[in-house]
Amino acid sequence: MLAANEERFRRIYTECLERPAGDYAELLRRGHVSSQEGVDVEAWRADIRRQARQDRIRVITSRDGARGLAMLNCRIADDRAMDAMRGALDRVVVLGELRERSRLFGHELGSWFGHHDELISTCERCGARLYTRLGSERIEDGEALNQLCAGDELSDP
Ligand SMILES: [Zn+2]
Repeated sequence: MLAANEERFRRIYTECLERPAGDYAELLRRGHVSSQEGVDVEAWRADIRRQARQDRIRVITSRDGARGLAMLNCRIADDRAMDAMRGALDRVVVLGELRERSRLFGHELGSWFGHHDELISTCERCGARLYTRLGSERIEDGEALNQLCAGDELSDP
């Protein structure tokens, strides 16, 4: 892995809480979403708002006891929500492709960690790393994309 990518990988790994990453996408798709049980509601709200800011769409978040609620502010142009939804779907597709490619080397990636367009994951069996930056200047790096899984139980024929 390139040193610069390794640096980013480490930073994301240490900074980021593991999060299902699906809540924001769900918000875009349905127009509203509530947090999972047991999450830090204020952190969850801040995260939803941060992602919405990056996509330049307006959201309203609130709190209902131990749950966070978020909804799109529909007075604002739906075009942006559509663009953001396309972006979120693109991310899902790209991450799915990366998962498939790592699988060719025998890896089984765990959850994705990360920010808006910079994500990391590791193989659940051998710890091989994957770092990717999405967008026009895409970066993909890590052992999970170019080395066989060390935890692979299959032996050579
Ligand atoms: Zn592996």
